[in-house]
Amino acid sequence: MKRKKLIWSIYPYYFIIIIGALYTVAFIAAQKLNTLYIQGIAETLTTRAGFVENAIIEHDLVPNNAGLDSLVDKLGAISKTRITIIDLDGIVIADSEKDPLTMENHKNRPEIQIAFQDSTGQQIRYSSTLHTDMMYIAVPLKIQSQIVGVIRTALPMHAIKIILDKFNRDMFISGIVITILVTLLSLLIFGKVSHPLKELQKGIKRFSRGEFQTQIPPFHSEELGILSDTMNDMAQQLNKRIGIIIQQRNEREAILSSLSEGVLALDLNEKVVNYNKKVLELLEISDKDINGKSIQEIVRNKELHNFINATQLETENVVRDLHLQLSDEKYIAVYGTILNNHENKKIGTVMVFNDITKLKRLDKIRRDFVANVSHELRTPITAIKGSVETLLDGALDDKESAEKFTQIINRHTSRLALIVEDLLSLAKFENESVIQTVEFAEENLLNLIKTSVEVVEQKSKEKEITISVDCNDEIKIRTQRKYLEHALINLLDNAIKYSDRNTSIRIQIVQKTNEIKISVSDEGCGIASQHLPRLFERFYRVDLARSRDIGGTGLGLAIVKHIARIHNGSVEVHSVPNEGSTFSIHLPT
Ligand code: ADP
Repeated sequence: MKRKKLIWSIYPYYFIIIIGALYTVAFIAAQKLNTLYIQGIAETLTTRAGFVENAIIEHDLVPNNAGLDSLVDKLGAISKTRITIIDLDGIVIADSEKDPLTMENHKNRPEIQIAFQDSTGQQIRYSSTLHTDMMYIAVPLKIQSQIVGVIRTALPMHAIKIILDKFNRDMFISGIVITILVTLLSLLIFGKVSHPLKELQKGIKRFSRGEFQTQIPPFHSEELGILSDTMNDMAQQLNKRIGIIIQQRNEREAILSSLSEGVLALDLNEKVVNYNKKVLELLEISDKDINGKSIQEIVRNKELHNFINATQLETENVVRDLHLQLSDEKYIAVYGTILNNHENKKIGTVMVFNDITKLKRLDKIRRDFVANVSHELRTPITAIKGSVETLLDGALDDKESAEKFTQIINRHTSRLALIVEDLLSLAKFENESVIQTVEFAEENLLNLIKTSVEVVEQKSKEKEITISVDCNDEIKIRTQRKYLEHALINLLDNAIKYSDRNTSIRIQIVQKTNEIKISVSDEGCGIASQHLPRLFERFYRVDLARSRDIGGTGLGLAIVKHIARIHNGSVEVHSVPNEGSTFSIHLPT
């Protein structure tokens, strides 16, 4: 709708009232003026008729009429009045303007009729003789109280027309002047009213934009002053309330975003009404603005949708573990509940997502580990138990058998000891509190390597394997000496175990700006590439039977990896089947 300015809504009425009042007053005044004028003329004419009567009587001109016409002409010329004398038969016997002989009978003239009845006749009419409106006053001409004729005086009326025309013209001009003045005055008044209204308007616009600091200026007028004060108060209240709402919203958002759980709120049409960052991460939602979008468009997962449906139908809270196949396999524990408004009316659902993939994985690792340990222990225990039973069943008496079974028991007991020892080492290197309290010291690396080599020297000699060390005597390293020796011994032990006789092993040190790399290379059987990613896992073995035969537990490399981690380092392997392997420990300096 096109809106008019306030002035144009009020001003036309204002204008009509002013003009109406002005012209009503003018009209009444003109009427009054006209009446007064007519009255004045009538009185003048009556008076003049009286003078004429006196003159006639004085000069005794009636009834013989001699000299009457010349008297009438004279008096008419002096008083600028038309004077006519009519006898009882209506015949004009004298006239100041015309020859009475040429004039028609006046008996039927209304004013004459009235005068005949001894009254004053008065009439205004157009005179065809003088071609103008005339006022006629007729009075009876009495001689000794006897009506002998009629004296009629007349004056033209054009003077009143001129006066009224002038009056109307003056009224018209003053009307225009007053209208202009009224318009200017109205503009001034409206300016005075509209200025504060504009200020109010600007202020309200500012408030609607949320700018509550700049207040509406105070006004002098009481009504507008109260209005602006009320608006300013209202703005203050709004500002306060919005401040509280914003603070509450910020607090809520801070809580939501600091949660390690994902939170998602949906309305009854399953459209997102609120969420936190974590949920985007958990459900791998790339769209950063999902408010108002349906959850079906955002995540396509049947299990999740079934869960949302279940939450909407249930009155109780729903808890479920979801197995989602996203970029990775994920396990998410979801807690769903109904979202009610302040009137306790159901308006949607809220879901809390908890990533339990790690827990599930750890649980699986724990179960695998228990199974692996049990499996590893079962073989030597079975062997020991079998040997002991055989011995008890009589083999003890046979020296040869007794020796054979005792050796079996010895071998498997050693293996058990080895497994237990490795398990304990692993437990130690995995124990967070042990890791936290490890003390590092500056050590000479060559010296440390030599000590490790000495430990495996016997075994290498047995297989005629040479071990060369390529390390600068100067190199110092911050380490937990025993742990690093343990790792090196494990690598050297493996290199000897998985190499043929008469081969060589090389220990090489590469020093970079921020790390030292210790590599152990052999010319052994090597490892096929598909095994490499899992090589450092606990109990992972390329060839289980071979490893067992040569006394492997499958824990050696896992221990190496943990020791590297304790040093904030990492491990790496390069291997070519039938050519050899290189295991490296990277340690930051
Ligand atoms: P194990 O006690 O069986 O040697 P490790 O954890 O030390 O267990 O090693 C895991 C597996 O890695 C071994 O079973 C073996 O198959 C392979 N492996 C380790 N070191 C070497 C090596 N130097 N050459 C070839 N294979 C190796």
